[in-house]
Amino acid sequence: MATKEDNLKSIISHAKEYGFVFQSSEIYDGLSAVYDYGQMGAELKKNIKEYWWKAMVNMHENIVGLDSAIFMHPTTWKASGHVDAFSDPLIDNKDSNKRYRADVLIEEHAEKIRLKIEKDVAKGIKRFGDDFDETQFRATNPNVLRNQTKIDDINSRYKTAMDADDLAAIKILIEDLGIACPISGSKNWTDVKQFNLMFSTEIGAVAEAANTIYLRPETAQGIFVNYLNVQKSGRMKIPFGIAQIGKAFRNEIVARQFIFRMREFEQMEMQFFVRPGEEMKWYEYWKEQRVKWHQSLGIDKKYYRFHDHIKLAHYANAACDIEFDFPMGFKELEGIHSRTDFDLKQHEEHSGKKLQYFDPEINESYVPYVVETSVGLDRTFLAIMSAAYTEEKLENDTERTVLKLPAFLAPVKVAIMPLTRKDGLPEKAREILNTLKFDYNCNYDEKDSPGKRYRRQDAIGTPYCVMVDHQTLEDDTVTIRDRDTMEQERVAISEIEAILKDKLDIRKVLS
Ligand code: ATP
Repeated sequence: MATKEDNLKSIISHAKEYGFVFQSSEIYDGLSAVYDYGQMGAELKKNIKEYWWKAMVNMHENIVGLDSAIFMHPTTWKASGHVDAFSDPLIDNKDSNKRYRADVLIEEHAEKIRLKIEKDVAKGIKRFGDDFDETQFRATNPNVLRNQTKIDDINSRYKTAMDADDLAAIKILIEDLGIACPISGSKNWTDVKQFNLMFSTEIGAVAEAANTIYLRPETAQGIFVNYLNVQKSGRMKIPFGIAQIGKAFRNEIVARQFIFRMREFEQMEMQFFVRPGEEMKWYEYWKEQRVKWHQSLGIDKKYYRFHDHIKLAHYANAACDIEFDFPMGFKELEGIHSRTDFDLKQHEEHSGKKLQYFDPEINESYVPYVVETSVGLDRTFLAIMSAAYTEEKLENDTERTVLKLPAFLAPVKVAIMPLTRKDGLPEKAREILNTLKFDYNCNYDEKDSPGKRYRRQDAIGTPYCVMVDHQTLEDDTVTIRDRDTMEQERVAISEIEAILKDKLDIRKVLS
């Protein structure tokens, strides 16, 4: 049976073979944790961005967009806390010389214990069927309770150590848990060190310390420093949001999981400005809204779960992740953070400018509180690809690999094919293509047998294929083939546009 790791490998090689994702600078043996999106990947990525933008900006009267620069005044990062505190605890294994994030090693250890609990529960369900009382079992079974206590202890020791910035205690925790390096198998660890994740470079011609600037590690700060510009020029009333899609850069310590963890990646972030004291209400609201957005992609609910942060970031008073069951297991897809007034207050202090809002409803000025939703575009891409990737056995003992992408996100919406390359069929097919190409990204394909062509389209997730055959010349009808059912339906050429419009309508998903 194929394991989840095999599944990731298959997705990576499929992504390369069909032009979705390439290793950056591959001809020079690649650059670690940097990737390029190919002809199909660029389309899919663009469609995901568009769907997020529509859902967040166009669907909300009180949310507007922004496109701020990657470079920002260096004081921004001093104010935001990134210069002093944007770091991960790292640890090296002395035998394999491999570097790990200490927090990830501990989290993964706890996750293994949690999986033992799930295994016990699954056994119970299998044995007792409908008579099984899962809640009761989780609350009373000695094995489950023992394992849950272990997890709670780990989390509590981890939190205490991180809160106190006690890196020695983190190392002791790793040793006490008997965590071994997956490469060398040894428990021979270095001390834990903090490692700042920001990339720096120099601006201007003179290389002086004062000219050091950073590549932004998150898009959020571009929103904060523009908050008043947008509020005033857009006459925005609280509560309101500013949304942005853009590149972010982090010098990640561990970069081994394809586009899950990259050094250059894209974020889709929205900062929602609210009246102080109302942030928890909005935090709950956005948690619900965002998980709904993910589920509207048609991926089974079981792939998603919430994970509350154990150690809150320096700016947050509540935070959770929406996790996705990636081929590597449940991992963060999106973060939802109640950032308080931390960022705006810090910018006020460092810039000497007031960033207050006068609230006419309560006749008071204040620095707004902020609830942030921050989702990785590349991680969303990987989540969608991994849920869509399907190896299917067909009735006639053949197989096909099909990307069951949500139709409205598919890179190519419709492929137009003449059955043969003669008898005027290509001309007829091109006629159809020339009407559809204004609304949809189409693919014209006349090479190889129809079967092979269908397989190629399946592999890139094209939801519909239109075949022009000899009957088309007689009665202006074609067949439309559905990617998932593989069924073909004969329809009039004049109906194609209406059919596609109905099937690919983004409105249905948005509403
Ligand atoms: P992690 O714990 O996995 O490092 P994070 O908590 O540091 O992630 P955030 O700072 O909350 O991540 O960033 C918001 C979102 O940006 C994440 O949910 C993720 O989808 C995306 N993201 C963060 N770092 C990366 C990365 N290195 N590569 C790709 N996407 C990333």
